Amino acid sequence: MQEITVTRTTHPKSKPDQSALGFGKYYTDHMLLMDYTAGIGWHEPRIVPFADLELHPAAVVLHYGTEIFEGLKAYRRPDGRVQLFRPMENVRRMNNSARRMALPTMDEELGLECLRKFVEVEQDWVPSAPGTSLYLRPFMIATGADLALHGIREARYVLIASPVASYFPDGLKPVKIMVEDEDVRAVRGGTGEAKCGGNYAASTRAGDRAEAKGYSQVLWLDGVERKYVEEVGSMNIMFKIAGRVVTPKLTGSILPGITRKSAIELLTSQGVPVDERLISVDELRQACEDGTLEEAWGIGTAAIISPVGALAFGDREYTIHGGEIGPFSQKLYDDLSGIQWGRKPDPFGWTFPVDQPAGAPDCQK
Ligand SMILES: *Cc1c(COP(=O)(O)O)cnc(C)c1O
Repeated sequence: MQEITVTRTTHPKSKPDQSALGFGKYYTDHMLLMDYTAGIGWHEPRIVPFADLELHPAAVVLHYGTEIFEGLKAYRRPDGRVQLFRPMENVRRMNNSARRMALPTMDEELGLECLRKFVEVEQDWVPSAPGTSLYLRPFMIATGADLALHGIREARYVLIASPVASYFPDGLKPVKIMVEDEDVRAVRGGTGEAKCGGNYAASTRAGDRAEAKGYSQVLWLDGVERKYVEEVGSMNIMFKIAGRVVTPKLTGSILPGITRKSAIELLTSQGVPVDERLISVDELRQACEDGTLEEAWGIGTAAIISPVGALAFGDREYTIHGGEIGPFSQKLYDDLSGIQWGRKPDPFGWTFPVDQPAGAPDCQK
Protein backbone atom coordinates (compact mmCIF):
# COMPACT_ATOMS: atom_id res chain seq x y z
CA MET A 1 0.00 0.00 0.00
CA GLN A 2 1.18 3.53 -0.77
CA GLU A 3 2.57 5.48 2.13
CA ILE A 4 0.55 8.49 3.30
CA THR A 5 2.95 11.37 3.89
CA VAL A 6 2.34 13.96 6.60
CA THR A 7 3.29 17.64 6.44
CA ARG A 8 2.30 19.29 9.70
CA THR A 9 1.01 22.82 9.93
CA THR A 10 3.30 25.42 11.46
CA HIS A 11 0.21 27.36 12.62
CA PRO A 12 -2.02 25.07 14.66
CA LYS A 13 -5.38 26.63 15.48
CA SER A 14 -6.74 26.84 18.99
CA LYS A 15 -9.49 24.32 19.70
CA PRO A 16 -13.06 25.65 19.81
CA ASP A 17 -15.19 25.70 22.96
CA GLN A 18 -16.78 22.24 23.23
CA SER A 19 -20.09 23.69 24.36
CA ALA A 20 -20.59 25.67 21.11
CA LEU A 21 -19.35 23.43 18.31
CA GLY A 22 -22.42 23.48 16.05
CA PHE A 23 -22.15 21.39 12.89
CA GLY A 24 -19.50 22.22 10.27
CA LYS A 25 -18.52 25.49 11.95
CA TYR A 26 -14.89 24.56 12.67
CA TYR A 27 -12.33 22.55 10.71
CA THR A 28 -9.18 20.82 11.92
CA ASP A 29 -5.57 21.79 11.12
CA HIS A 30 -5.05 19.38 8.23
CA MET A 31 -6.69 17.70 5.25
CA LEU A 32 -5.84 14.61 3.27
CA LEU A 33 -5.43 14.88 -0.50
CA MET A 34 -4.89 12.22 -3.11
CA ASP A 35 -4.94 12.47 -6.89
CA TYR A 36 -6.12 10.15 -9.61
CA THR A 37 -4.78 10.18 -13.14
CA ALA A 38 -6.07 7.79 -15.81
CA GLY A 39 -3.37 5.28 -16.68
CA ILE A 40 -1.60 5.83 -13.35
CA GLY A 41 -4.34 5.36 -10.75
CA TRP A 42 -4.42 6.95 -7.30
CA HIS A 43 -1.17 8.53 -6.22
CA GLU A 44 0.47 10.74 -3.61
CA PRO A 45 -1.85 10.35 -0.62
CA ARG A 46 -0.78 13.19 1.66
CA ILE A 47 -1.89 14.90 4.84
CA VAL A 48 -1.18 18.61 4.51
CA PRO A 49 -2.16 21.85 6.27
CA PHE A 50 -5.84 22.75 5.76
CA ALA A 51 -6.17 25.19 2.86
CA ASP A 52 -8.44 26.28 0.00
CA LEU A 53 -8.55 24.06 -3.08
CA GLU A 54 -7.43 25.38 -6.43
CA LEU A 55 -9.34 24.23 -9.50
CA HIS A 56 -9.22 24.90 -13.22
CA PRO A 57 -12.39 26.88 -14.10
CA ALA A 58 -13.24 24.16 -16.64
CA ALA A 59 -12.93 21.36 -14.05
CA VAL A 60 -15.63 18.77 -14.74
CA VAL A 61 -17.10 18.99 -11.21
CA LEU A 62 -17.91 22.70 -11.63
CA HIS A 63 -19.96 22.11 -14.78
CA TYR A 64 -21.34 18.60 -14.63
CA GLY A 65 -21.53 18.01 -10.90
CA THR A 66 -19.33 14.92 -10.78
CA GLU A 67 -18.96 14.69 -7.00
CA ILE A 68 -19.51 12.02 -4.35
CA PHE A 69 -19.02 12.10 -0.60
CA GLU A 70 -19.23 10.16 2.64
CA GLY A 71 -19.96 11.06 6.24
CA LEU A 72 -18.79 9.27 9.37
CA LYS A 73 -17.62 10.18 12.85
CA ALA A 74 -14.67 9.60 15.17
CA TYR A 75 -15.81 9.10 18.77
CA ARG A 76 -13.91 9.68 22.04
CA ARG A 77 -14.42 6.67 24.32
CA PRO A 78 -14.63 6.92 28.11
CA ASP A 79 -11.05 5.54 28.33
CA GLY A 80 -9.80 8.38 26.08
CA ARG A 81 -9.14 6.28 22.99
CA VAL A 82 -10.61 7.34 19.66
CA GLN A 83 -12.66 4.99 17.48
CA LEU A 84 -14.51 4.89 14.19
CA PHE A 85 -17.80 3.07 13.58
CA ARG A 86 -17.83 0.57 10.69
CA PRO A 87 -15.48 2.69 8.54
CA MET A 88 -15.04 -0.05 5.93
CA GLU A 89 -18.76 0.32 5.16
CA ASN A 90 -18.12 3.94 4.19
CA VAL A 91 -15.12 2.97 2.06
CA ARG A 92 -17.20 0.39 0.19
CA ARG A 93 -20.18 2.67 -0.25
CA MET A 94 -17.91 5.39 -1.63
CA ASN A 95 -16.63 2.90 -4.19
CA ASN A 96 -20.24 2.05 -5.12
CA SER A 97 -21.02 5.76 -5.49
CA ALA A 98 -17.88 6.15 -7.61
CA ARG A 99 -18.97 3.35 -9.94
CA ARG A 100 -22.35 5.01 -10.50
CA MET A 101 -20.75 8.37 -11.32
CA ALA A 102 -17.93 6.93 -13.48
CA LEU A 103 -15.40 8.18 -10.94
CA PRO A 104 -12.41 5.96 -10.08
CA THR A 105 -12.73 3.44 -7.24
CA MET A 106 -9.90 2.89 -4.80
CA ASP A 107 -8.31 -0.03 -3.03
CA GLU A 108 -10.37 -0.68 0.13
CA GLU A 109 -7.34 -0.97 2.38
CA LEU A 110 -6.01 2.37 1.12
CA GLY A 111 -9.41 4.01 1.64
CA LEU A 112 -9.57 2.69 5.21
CA GLU A 113 -6.00 3.70 6.00
CA CYS A 114 -6.70 7.26 4.78
CA LEU A 115 -9.51 7.53 7.34
CA ARG A 116 -7.54 5.89 10.14
CA LYS A 117 -4.29 7.76 9.66
CA PHE A 118 -5.98 11.14 9.23
CA VAL A 119 -7.91 10.71 12.48
CA GLU A 120 -4.73 9.57 14.21
CA VAL A 121 -3.00 12.80 13.11
CA GLU A 122 -6.02 14.91 14.16
CA GLN A 123 -6.94 12.96 17.31
CA ASP A 124 -6.58 15.97 19.61
CA TRP A 125 -9.50 17.44 17.68
CA VAL A 126 -11.89 14.67 18.74
CA PRO A 127 -13.97 16.36 21.46
CA SER A 128 -14.95 14.61 24.69
CA ALA A 129 -18.09 16.44 25.85
CA PRO A 130 -21.23 14.21 25.84
CA GLY A 131 -22.65 13.70 22.36
CA THR A 132 -19.79 15.47 20.55
CA SER A 133 -17.61 13.85 17.89
CA LEU A 134 -15.27 14.60 15.02
CA TYR A 135 -17.28 14.48 11.79
CA LEU A 136 -15.28 13.18 8.82
CA ARG A 137 -16.15 14.24 5.32
CA PRO A 138 -14.30 12.38 2.57
CA PHE A 139 -15.28 13.48 -0.94
CA MET A 140 -14.19 13.01 -4.51
CA ILE A 141 -14.40 15.44 -7.42
CA ALA A 142 -13.61 15.25 -11.14
CA THR A 143 -10.84 17.82 -11.57
CA GLY A 144 -9.87 17.52 -15.25
CA ALA A 145 -10.48 20.54 -17.50
CA ASP A 146 -12.78 18.87 -20.00
CA LEU A 147 -15.93 20.70 -21.13
CA ALA A 148 -16.46 18.01 -23.75
CA LEU A 149 -16.64 15.42 -20.95
CA HIS A 150 -15.13 12.32 -22.51
CA GLY A 151 -14.75 10.10 -19.47
CA ILE A 152 -13.20 11.02 -16.14
CA ARG A 153 -9.42 11.20 -16.52
CA GLU A 154 -8.49 13.18 -13.42
CA ALA A 155 -9.99 13.20 -9.95
CA ARG A 156 -9.11 14.24 -6.46
CA TYR A 157 -9.98 12.65 -3.13
CA VAL A 158 -10.17 15.06 -0.21
CA LEU A 159 -10.77 14.31 3.48
CA ILE A 160 -11.64 17.09 5.91
CA ALA A 161 -12.92 16.97 9.48
CA SER A 162 -15.07 19.13 11.73
CA PRO A 163 -15.60 18.78 15.49
CA VAL A 164 -19.38 18.75 15.96
CA ALA A 165 -21.89 19.10 18.77
CA SER A 166 -24.57 16.61 19.58
CA TYR A 167 -27.40 17.00 17.08
CA PHE A 168 -29.82 17.38 19.97
CA PRO A 169 -27.91 18.99 22.85
CA ASP A 170 -31.01 19.00 25.08
CA GLY A 171 -32.03 15.41 24.44
CA LEU A 172 -33.81 13.90 21.45
CA LYS A 173 -36.32 16.45 20.23
CA PRO A 174 -39.01 15.25 17.80
CA VAL A 175 -39.22 17.04 14.45
CA LYS A 176 -42.22 17.78 12.25
CA ILE A 177 -42.07 16.51 8.69
CA MET A 178 -44.34 16.79 5.66
CA VAL A 179 -44.94 14.44 2.78
CA GLU A 180 -43.44 15.97 -0.38
CA ASP A 181 -45.84 15.55 -3.29
CA GLU A 182 -44.25 17.79 -5.90
CA ASP A 183 -40.49 17.20 -6.23
CA VAL A 184 -38.83 13.79 -6.14
CA ARG A 185 -35.34 13.05 -4.83
CA ALA A 186 -34.37 10.13 -6.98
CA VAL A 187 -35.58 7.44 -9.36
CA ARG A 188 -34.54 3.83 -9.79
CA GLY A 189 -31.68 3.79 -12.28
CA GLY A 190 -30.81 7.35 -11.30
CA THR A 191 -28.40 8.35 -8.54
CA GLY A 192 -30.51 7.80 -5.40
CA GLU A 193 -28.29 4.93 -4.24
CA ALA A 194 -25.14 7.02 -4.65
CA LYS A 195 -24.07 9.55 -2.02
CA CYS A 196 -23.57 12.40 -4.45
CA GLY A 197 -23.90 16.16 -4.18
CA GLY A 198 -26.36 16.28 -7.06
CA ASN A 199 -29.03 14.51 -5.02
CA TYR A 200 -28.76 17.27 -2.46
CA ALA A 201 -28.81 20.03 -5.08
CA ALA A 202 -32.11 18.62 -6.35
CA SER A 203 -33.55 18.39 -2.81
CA THR A 204 -32.83 21.89 -1.59
CA ARG A 205 -35.97 23.51 -2.98
CA ALA A 206 -38.35 21.06 -1.30
CA GLY A 207 -36.45 21.42 1.98
CA ASP A 208 -36.75 25.20 1.82
CA ARG A 209 -40.47 25.02 1.10
CA ALA A 210 -41.01 22.67 4.03
CA GLU A 211 -39.10 24.98 6.36
CA ALA A 212 -41.19 27.95 5.26
CA LYS A 213 -44.27 25.96 6.32
CA GLY A 214 -42.79 25.11 9.71
CA TYR A 215 -41.51 21.59 8.96
CA SER A 216 -37.90 20.61 9.39
CA GLN A 217 -37.71 17.92 6.69
CA VAL A 218 -39.69 16.38 3.87
CA LEU A 219 -40.72 12.75 3.55
CA TRP A 220 -39.75 11.70 0.04
CA LEU A 221 -41.95 9.43 -2.03
CA ASP A 222 -40.75 7.22 -4.89
CA GLY A 223 -40.19 9.08 -8.12
CA VAL A 224 -42.28 6.88 -10.42
CA GLU A 225 -45.61 6.19 -8.71
CA ARG A 226 -45.27 8.80 -5.95
CA LYS A 227 -46.82 6.22 -3.75
CA TYR A 228 -44.13 4.61 -1.62
CA VAL A 229 -42.22 6.20 1.23
CA GLU A 230 -38.45 6.41 0.66
CA GLU A 231 -36.43 8.66 2.99
CA VAL A 232 -36.79 11.67 5.24
CA GLY A 233 -34.63 14.65 4.26
CA SER A 234 -31.14 13.18 4.23
CA MET A 235 -31.85 10.27 6.54
CA ASN A 236 -33.42 6.86 6.22
CA ILE A 237 -36.79 6.35 7.92
CA MET A 238 -38.27 3.72 10.21
CA PHE A 239 -41.73 3.26 11.70
CA LYS A 240 -43.28 1.19 14.44
CA ILE A 241 -46.74 0.24 13.20
CA ALA A 242 -49.00 -2.02 15.27
CA GLY A 243 -46.05 -3.41 17.18
CA ARG A 244 -43.81 -4.13 14.16
CA VAL A 245 -40.77 -2.21 13.02
CA VAL A 246 -40.89 -1.42 9.31
CA THR A 247 -38.55 0.45 7.00
CA PRO A 248 -38.62 0.98 3.22
CA LYS A 249 -36.70 -1.73 1.41
CA LEU A 250 -33.72 -0.67 -0.69
CA THR A 251 -35.19 -0.49 -4.17
CA GLY A 252 -32.38 1.38 -5.93
CA SER A 253 -33.49 4.94 -5.28
CA ILE A 254 -32.81 4.90 -1.54
CA LEU A 255 -29.41 5.58 0.01
CA PRO A 256 -28.27 2.44 1.84
CA GLY A 257 -27.53 3.99 5.24
CA ILE A 258 -24.99 2.36 7.53
CA THR A 259 -26.95 3.46 10.62
CA ARG A 260 -30.08 1.90 9.08
CA LYS A 261 -28.23 -1.34 8.42
CA SER A 262 -26.74 -1.35 11.93
CA ALA A 263 -30.15 -0.76 13.53
CA ILE A 264 -31.65 -3.67 11.57
CA GLU A 265 -28.79 -5.96 12.65
CA LEU A 266 -28.94 -4.78 16.25
CA LEU A 267 -32.73 -5.11 16.56
CA THR A 268 -32.70 -8.52 14.87
CA SER A 269 -30.06 -9.69 17.38
CA GLN A 270 -32.39 -8.52 20.18
CA GLY A 271 -35.22 -10.60 18.78
CA VAL A 272 -37.06 -7.63 17.25
CA PRO A 273 -37.72 -8.41 13.59
CA VAL A 274 -37.54 -5.52 11.12
CA ASP A 275 -39.66 -5.71 7.99
CA GLU A 276 -37.92 -4.22 4.95
CA ARG A 277 -40.72 -3.71 2.48
CA LEU A 278 -42.63 -1.19 0.41
CA ILE A 279 -44.66 1.18 2.59
CA SER A 280 -47.30 3.17 0.77
CA VAL A 281 -48.26 6.66 1.77
CA ASP A 282 -51.88 5.41 2.06
CA GLU A 283 -50.86 2.74 4.55
CA LEU A 284 -48.98 5.34 6.56
CA ARG A 285 -51.90 7.73 6.53
CA GLN A 286 -54.25 4.95 7.60
CA ALA A 287 -51.89 4.06 10.46
CA CYS A 288 -52.01 7.73 11.54
CA GLU A 289 -55.82 7.69 11.32
CA ASP A 290 -56.38 4.54 13.33
CA GLY A 291 -53.60 5.21 15.82
CA THR A 292 -51.46 2.19 14.95
CA LEU A 293 -48.47 4.37 14.02
CA GLU A 294 -46.76 4.17 17.38
CA GLU A 295 -43.42 5.79 16.59
CA ALA A 296 -41.45 7.14 13.63
CA TRP A 297 -37.82 8.19 13.41
CA GLY A 298 -35.20 9.26 10.92
CA ILE A 299 -31.91 7.38 11.13
CA GLY A 300 -28.43 8.41 9.95
CA THR A 301 -24.90 9.20 11.13
CA ALA A 302 -25.45 12.89 11.90
CA ALA A 303 -28.35 12.61 14.37
CA ILE A 304 -28.30 8.78 14.86
CA ILE A 305 -32.04 8.86 15.68
CA SER A 306 -34.29 11.81 14.90
CA PRO A 307 -37.76 11.16 16.30
CA VAL A 308 -40.69 12.33 14.18
CA GLY A 309 -43.32 14.05 16.30
CA ALA A 310 -45.70 15.11 13.56
CA LEU A 311 -46.39 14.09 10.00
CA ALA A 312 -48.34 16.21 7.50
CA PHE A 313 -50.18 15.03 4.40
CA GLY A 314 -51.14 18.23 2.59
CA ASP A 315 -53.10 20.32 5.09
CA ARG A 316 -53.76 17.42 7.46
CA GLU A 317 -51.21 17.04 10.25
CA TYR A 318 -51.05 14.03 12.56
CA THR A 319 -49.21 13.95 15.88
CA ILE A 320 -47.11 10.85 16.57
CA HIS A 321 -46.65 9.55 20.12
CA GLY A 322 -48.08 12.77 21.51
CA GLY A 323 -45.26 14.72 19.84
CA GLU A 324 -42.82 13.14 22.30
CA ILE A 325 -40.00 10.69 21.71
CA GLY A 326 -41.22 7.12 22.15
CA PRO A 327 -39.55 4.49 24.33
CA PHE A 328 -38.57 2.34 21.34
CA SER A 329 -36.71 5.19 19.56
CA GLN A 330 -35.05 6.20 22.81
CA LYS A 331 -33.77 2.67 23.48
CA LEU A 332 -32.49 2.29 19.91
CA TYR A 333 -30.65 5.60 20.28
CA ASP A 334 -29.17 4.54 23.62
CA ASP A 335 -28.03 1.18 22.24
CA LEU A 336 -26.48 2.52 19.02
CA SER A 337 -24.87 5.58 20.57
CA GLY A 338 -23.61 3.41 23.45
CA ILE A 339 -21.64 1.26 21.00
CA GLN A 340 -20.45 4.25 18.94
CA TRP A 341 -19.02 6.13 21.93
CA GLY A 342 -17.72 2.96 23.56
CA ARG A 343 -20.01 3.17 26.58
CA LYS A 344 -21.55 -0.22 25.80
CA PRO A 345 -19.88 -3.45 24.70
CA ASP A 346 -19.61 -4.04 20.96
CA PRO A 347 -20.46 -7.70 20.33
CA PHE A 348 -20.56 -7.08 16.57
CA GLY A 349 -16.98 -5.87 16.04
CA TRP A 350 -18.28 -2.62 14.56
CA THR A 351 -15.90 -0.26 16.33
CA PHE A 352 -12.43 0.42 15.02
CA PRO A 353 -9.90 2.16 17.29
CA VAL A 354 -7.63 4.44 15.25
CA ASP A 355 -4.51 3.19 17.03
CA GLN A 356 -5.22 -0.23 15.53
CA PRO A 357 -2.86 -1.27 12.70
CA ALA A 358 -4.29 -1.08 9.20
CA GLY A 359 -5.84 -4.25 7.85
CA ALA A 360 -6.72 -5.77 11.24
CA PRO A 361 -9.39 -8.41 10.61
CA ASP A 362 -12.28 -6.76 12.47
CA CYS A 363 -12.20 -3.71 10.21
CA GLN A 364 -13.94 -5.77 7.54
CA LYS A 365 -17.33 -5.64 9.22
C1 LIG B 1 -25.84 9.65 4.20
C2 LIG B 1 -27.29 9.51 3.95
C3 LIG B 1 -28.12 8.69 4.74
C4 LIG B 1 -27.66 8.02 6.02
O1 LIG B 1 -26.58 7.15 5.87
P1 LIG B 1 -25.67 6.79 7.12
O2 LIG B 1 -24.63 5.89 6.53
O3 LIG B 1 -26.51 6.08 8.10
O4 LIG B 1 -25.13 8.06 7.66
C5 LIG B 1 -29.45 8.54 4.37
N1 LIG B 1 -29.95 9.17 3.30
C6 LIG B 1 -29.20 9.98 2.52
C7 LIG B 1 -29.81 10.65 1.35
C8 LIG B 1 -27.86 10.17 2.82
O5 LIG B 1 -27.12 11.00 2.05
